[in-house]
Amino acid sequence: MYAKDKCSVCGNYTYIIAKVTSVPDILYCKNCSDAEIERLEKNFILMKFVCIRCGSTNIVKEDLRVGINEDVINSFNGIVIGVYAVARLACIDCKNVFHVNFLDNGPRTK
Ligand SMILES: [Zn+2]
Ligand SMILES: [Zn+2]
Repeated sequence: MYAKDKCSVCGNYTYIIAKVTSVPDILYCKNCSDAEIERLEKNFILMKFVCIRCGSTNIVKEDLRVGINEDVINSFNGIVIGVYAVARLACIDCKNVFHVNFLDNGPRTK
């Protein structure tokens, strides 16, 4: 929990629970953080994957973790990544296990 400040998403002056280091910093209040995480989680569940080893679509998703990426300064082509999802996927047909890592850059501004 950080001091009260202006949430970068909703603009309300309230308690900040997550801060992504950037210029300027991206600040999230609890409501906005919950909403971002819920959105990515919901849409991740809708995504279809194929096994990267055998091409099968019989994939089981496990260990989904979604959060605000506070700790790491993620600079990919100068774009800051605020929300991430990591999951373990297992192929039912060939038993291969692999991971996917989603980094949400937010809406395109240019
Ligand atoms: Zn907010
Ligand atoms: Zn497979």
